[in-house]
Amino acid sequence: MKFLSIRQRVVEMSVLLADRGYFAATGGNLALRVDEEHMVVTPSAVDYYQMGPEDICVLRLHDLGKVDGERKPSVESGMHAQVLRKRTDCLASIHTHQPAASALSLLGQALPVQGAEQQALLGPQVLIAGYAPSGTSWLSSKLRRVLRQDVNAYLLRTHGAICCGSSPERALQAIAALEALAVTHLRERLVARAALAVPEHTALQKLIATLDAQPVQELIA
Ligand SMILES: [Zn+2]
Repeated sequence: MKFLSIRQRVVEMSVLLADRGYFAATGGNLALRVDEEHMVVTPSAVDYYQMGPEDICVLRLHDLGKVDGERKPSVESGMHAQVLRKRTDCLASIHTHQPAASALSLLGQALPVQGAEQQALLGPQVLIAGYAPSGTSWLSSKLRRVLRQDVNAYLLRTHGAICCGSSPERALQAIAALEALAVTHLRERLVARAALAVPEHTALQKLIATLDAQPVQELIA
């Protein structure tokens, strides 16, 4: 089997992301750069806990032609290829439907990033790509239009998020940093809205309590 160790790394990362709640069911996918011409990518619709290195697909970066692997590659392979083509400094691209960042993607706004540590992982801001249906070349071209050399985290409008990194570890850290930023941002918005003593005050307080509860705090710890 070609590229066994990097395929194994994709499997390990997928299980880690599923364990941490960033990959739910078969939602979410990732790609790692193999060399200048190839990437490995998760297969489409395979349970992460049943997946082995043989299920990982090897694709050509420039045209997504399959070089190795029995399975059908992730429907978002085109999106990962856009990231890895543009960001030649990056080895990893991870797409998730992580809860808080996906909720924020509904607002359709870029997010400022504060603090040197978060900026080193995410960039000066989190940008947003316009809406297009999942798994389409339309979506990857919307993302391509907003990709920037200094921004490692993007929201996909009404869908989820995608992060890249100079190593698999950095991309994983960016995913966690984005979720923490999204929780903070959502909480601030809810607190500001609840302070207006609006009719939905009680419902807003419940949402704030949900964000402060253990499952969310564990997700972003
Ligand atoms: Zn998706």
